Amino acid sequence: MALLDGCQEGKKTPVLKEVKCPKCGQIIEVFEKEGKTVEETVCDACQYVVNEGTYLSEL
Ligand SMILES: [Zn+2]
Repeated sequence: MALLDGCQEGKKTPVLKEVKCPKCGQIIEVFEKEGKTVEETVCDACQYVVNEGTYLSEL
């Protein structure tokens, strides 16, 4: 699948997005692809963990 991914950059490149931490409201930056986070991100302020695969609409 890695090879296929490489063929379709553009659409499938993760985008850096600012979202609010659901716990403390701090702005955190996550990489998003197709509406979901692509990696685990930890809030600097409260250490809340946004898991990989979390929909941004749920944050
Ligand atoms: Zn937080």
